[in-house]
Order: sequence, then structure tokens, then C-alpha cells
Amino acid sequence: MSDQRTRIAELKSLVERFNEARDWKRWHKPKNLALSILIEAAELAEHFQWGNHEDIEKFGRDKWHEIEAELADVLIYCLAFANRANIDVSDAVKKKLNAAARKYPTSLFNKRVQADADIIHRTYRELKRRPFDKLRTSRNHI
Ligand SMILES: [Mg+2]
Repeated sequence: MSDQRTRIAELKSLVERFNEARDWKRWHKPKNLALSILIEAAELAEHFQWGNHEDIEKFGRDKWHEIEAELADVLIYCLAFANRANIDVSDAVKKKLNAAARKYPTSLFNKRVQADADIIHRTYRELKRRPFDKLRTSRNHI
């Protein structure tokens, strides 16, 4: 099973059958599934908590397997939510991307993104160099 050969409908069906076989669908109300998505997303994010970019580049294969499993948890709950709420995932994603493309046209956005990224990186590097007591002092003056 790979992304290249698997349809979203097939994944939705797998999730549906898995949950039906365990009689878990009775617990799968939209609120519970939405919270489960958040909880699993937090478990995914936990792998990156406190680490910087250099730490993350040093993650080994086992760590990435754990991260992959958490991403799968998020996606499984997203698919269960889509099943429960009768949402066509492909249609929803395409509609959202079309709306985002209208909101953020590439002709205006690309140059600004690079400028913003440069400012953010310079500010981050500067803040990292400054001792904590100087940060507190400068913040008190604001
Ligand atoms: Mg998990």
C-alpha cells in the first residue's frame, strides 16, 4: 500500500471497517473525533517539543518511525471524522486550496514570504544570542 496506488476512499473504508469491527463507531461522535485529532496532533508535536532544527536533523530511524505512527493516528482520526460527518476529503481539500490560492496569490506572496522569513530568522538568531536577563530588561522597557 503506497500513496501512489491508494485511493482516499480505500483508506476511509479501511478505517470504517476497523471501527465497525470493534463497535467503536458509537463513541465516534464529531466532538470526540475532533478532540482525538487534537490529542494525536499533540502527540506528534511532542516529538519536536524543546528541540531545535539541529536536534531534529539528528533524529534516527526509530524516532521517525514513532513520528510516522503519530502522523498515522492523526490521519486515521481525520478519516474517521470525514466518515462520520460525510465529508468528501478530496473535495474539501481542493476547495480549501482553491480558496487559499485566491487569498494568497503567488505573484504577491513569494517575494514577501522570503523577506518575512529572512526577518524571522535574523530576529530568532539575535534573540538566541541574548542572555535571558537582557531579554527581561528590554521587554520591561516596552
Ligand atoms: Mg498516538
